[in-house]
Amino acid sequence: MPSRSRAPPRPCASNLSTAGRRGTIIAGEFVKVEAAAVHNLRDHMTAEVAVVGGGPAGLVSAIALKAGGVDVVLIAPPSPDDHRTTALLAGSVKALATLGAWQSCRPHAAPLATLRIVDGTRRPLRAPEVCFAAAEIGLEAFGHNIENRHLLAALSARAAEMNLPHIAEAARAVSSDPDGVTVKLAAGAVRARLVVGADGQRSLCRTAAGIGTHRRAYAQTALTLNLGHARPHHDTATEFHTESGPFTLVPLPGRRSSLVCVLDPPSAAALVALDRAALSREIERRAHSSLGAMDAEPGRGVFPLAVETAHSFAGARIALVGEAAHVVPPIGAQGLNLGLRDAATLAELVVDARRRSLDVGAPSVLARYASQRRADVATRRIAVDLLNRSLLTDLLLVQGARGLSLYLVDRIGPLRRALMREGVAPAASQPRLMRGEMV
Ligand SMILES: Cc1cc2nc3c(=O)[nH]c(=O)nc-3n(C[C@H](O)[C@H](O)[C@H](O)COP(=O)(O)OP(=O)(O)OC[C@H]3O[C@@H](n4cnc5c(N)ncnc54)[C@H](O)[C@@H]3O)c2cc1C
Repeated sequence: MPSRSRAPPRPCASNLSTAGRRGTIIAGEFVKVEAAAVHNLRDHMTAEVAVVGGGPAGLVSAIALKAGGVDVVLIAPPSPDDHRTTALLAGSVKALATLGAWQSCRPHAAPLATLRIVDGTRRPLRAPEVCFAAAEIGLEAFGHNIENRHLLAALSARAAEMNLPHIAEAARAVSSDPDGVTVKLAAGAVRARLVVGADGQRSLCRTAAGIGTHRRAYAQTALTLNLGHARPHHDTATEFHTESGPFTLVPLPGRRSSLVCVLDPPSAAALVALDRAALSREIERRAHSSLGAMDAEPGRGVFPLAVETAHSFAGARIALVGEAAHVVPPIGAQGLNLGLRDAATLAELVVDARRRSLDVGAPSVLARYASQRRADVATRRIAVDLLNRSLLTDLLLVQGARGLSLYLVDRIGPLRRALMREGVAPAASQPRLMRGEMV
């Protein structure tokens, strides 16, 4: 992993308490800082930045900040079991590689070389099948699909390798004042210039910053599971568009795939209650036997769908990343890819601020972060919402427009290639990590 030869100036350290400096030294020596150790340090430990939440967005934020020479501490209880997978687009893969985490992910990840969209509705106006091939835009793959447990394990291993200080418990309370932010723990507290709120949909950090959200729930539920199948997937993800939402099979290594099946809530409840053999047969039927006989693995997930966006992505020395800032339905693999672009953008701005001897939690830094992330998040949210609604509606006009759009995408090469390029690397947001450069 690239490293810096000279530590950048640390303009804020002189304003922090003595106890804080001692806390930082101890944190540097031990990967895991026990809450008791924090307590012994006269109840306070300080860091320039505290990242709250150890999901993928929080781990990548902490690793990127640490790689940029920032004095950072991660406050994160062990992550809950997650059987989902994530389709990481090429920019996210590049960022993980730059941070030294991709090498451990790669054996568990399958490339996404082709994306097939199949109209599986029984409506009168049906769209043609469309195939997007990564080779058409000079890529081997649009990205890679990996089980979240492997992604989290690789990120945690990388954090440990970098001696990233980690307090393995939840934040109890977060409060800001003009000089810093205090994160209260069961015993003791952490004082920082900036808090990165990576604590998911019900973010404590977001509430502490006084930031509200706009949330709309859909009458849809995503059923998720991984499965084995008789025929090879040839690195192709297939998205069947159905009247209740997409039914998407995404490759995993070998003859395995992950499934995200979007249904109305009663149908999802009925499906998830089936035994293994009956569920496997039902999924094979819905997949039109395109991958042959299927075997649904244990570990089913049920996720009610909603779209939620924070009114601002930062305020009161707290910057929100990942689902603390925005939740989009799992259609088109956008959610975590957006979250990783948040993490990369924020780390870049914090590192730049330090180089210019600025306070990393200053309103100007937070305002730049919020404004740099707005367009990317808004365009993805609108695109996912439109696609989802166009599947649900019975309006012939909308079905016709969807069919026509897909027809045009299928027939017009430059349009198709422009869409693919924008999908993989959005023009509005290319932080350094996504280009393969260190923060
Ligand atoms: C069915 C489904 C499929 C998806 N597929 C894809 C995909 O293919 N591609 C894609 O890009 N995205 C996908 N997503 C979206 C993706 O899963 C999310 O964007 C991602 O998991 C969010 O990560 P996060 O780190 O922001 O939040 P989380 O993973 O929710 O992590 C938040 C963490 O914060 C911790 N936490 C909470 N409160 C506190 C506290 N007080 N103190 C400390 N820690 C705290 C929690 O324990 C948790 O570990 C999918 C989503 C769903 C529902």
